Amino acid sequence: MQVVKKNRIAAIVFFVTTFFVFSAAFSQNLFRVALDAGHGDHDFGANYGGRIEKNINLALVLKVGKILEQNPKIEVIYTRTTDVFIDLIERANIANRADATIFVSIHCNANKNTAASGTETYVMGMSKVASNLEAAKKENSVITLEKDYKQKYEGFDPNSPETMIGMTLMQEEYLDNSIALASKIEDRFADLGREIRQGGVKQAPFMVLHKAYMPRVLVETGFISNTVEGNYLNSEEGQNDIARAIADAIVSYKREYFGADATDNYNERPSQTTPAAAVNENVAPVVEKPVVKEEAPAIVFKVQLMTSKKKLELQSSNFKGLEGITVVADGKYFKYMFGAAATFEEAQKLLAEAKSKGYDSAYLIALKNGQLITVQEAIK
Ligand SMILES: [Zn+2]
Repeated sequence: MQVVKKNRIAAIVFFVTTFFVFSAAFSQNLFRVALDAGHGDHDFGANYGGRIEKNINLALVLKVGKILEQNPKIEVIYTRTTDVFIDLIERANIANRADATIFVSIHCNANKNTAASGTETYVMGMSKVASNLEAAKKENSVITLEKDYKQKYEGFDPNSPETMIGMTLMQEEYLDNSIALASKIEDRFADLGREIRQGGVKQAPFMVLHKAYMPRVLVETGFISNTVEGNYLNSEEGQNDIARAIADAIVSYKREYFGADATDNYNERPSQTTPAAAVNENVAPVVEKPVVKEEAPAIVFKVQLMTSKKKLELQSSNFKGLEGITVVADGKYFKYMFGAAATFEEAQKLLAEAKSKGYDSAYLIALKNGQLITVQEAIK
């Protein structure tokens, strides 16, 4: 009797421990999205015809967050969820402290020329383009609302973003990823039929981006100074569309750079997928079956090159010339992988290539729907 009880307790302890170990591992694997609603409280941002930027930004961020929170693999961090003032450094620090995977700052644009319209998504960096600097000056000018800004921002002059030059040299670390995220956002806006302003993805020195240490973008979702676009931004329907586009872009980024998993629910871009019907089970099976098979390649072989605490840009120069590098975050570590093959034979060629470049300890891994499985299972 005693023994049975002990065994039972041991079993319970085992299961509880296992549960916590698993949930800890699970939470480490979270993709953390820091969402930043620009401005707040006495800082209204742009204000035209009753359309107030700080309110639109907050409404958009809450909607994006609500969509992302449905995904158990995504954790959303907000710099603000109410109408409060937070300075630019603190916004970035909220993301830094939370160890966010990406940082997305959401704003509305404005211009004295009320005909100006369209979306822009910025990545951090210097720019000589006057219109890029204009947006940065406008968003950076918020710091003058803080009494001690001259000390706090180390002599940075918001009217002369060039004073950030010395500070930006180390910023290039996240540039490729930031551009990838920004492009996805602008692509989704294009899908919505939004006007993409002069190329969409731009570079400029934004203080809020400067201080965040992760891939980061600032989205100008449109001009509230433009009556038509401004009313769209200020409408429930417009905000729902924009929020969905941004959330979809974020999930798409997650899938590409962080690993896909079955819990990702988002609208695949129509241009990239097999017909939407492929996912719909109620469609005539005749056309459907082969499409479904292609849609679910399920198993992918990759070459694991190395594990590092350091987040590296995925460019080939960082990987002895190998192209097609992907990364998965695993707790505090980053696993860097090369290639993607559908068959074991192809995978072995990739492995040989990696070894020939000097990755002697590289080995093959296999993923099924983004989850690790053994290579033996995959071969079957
Ligand atoms: Zn703004």
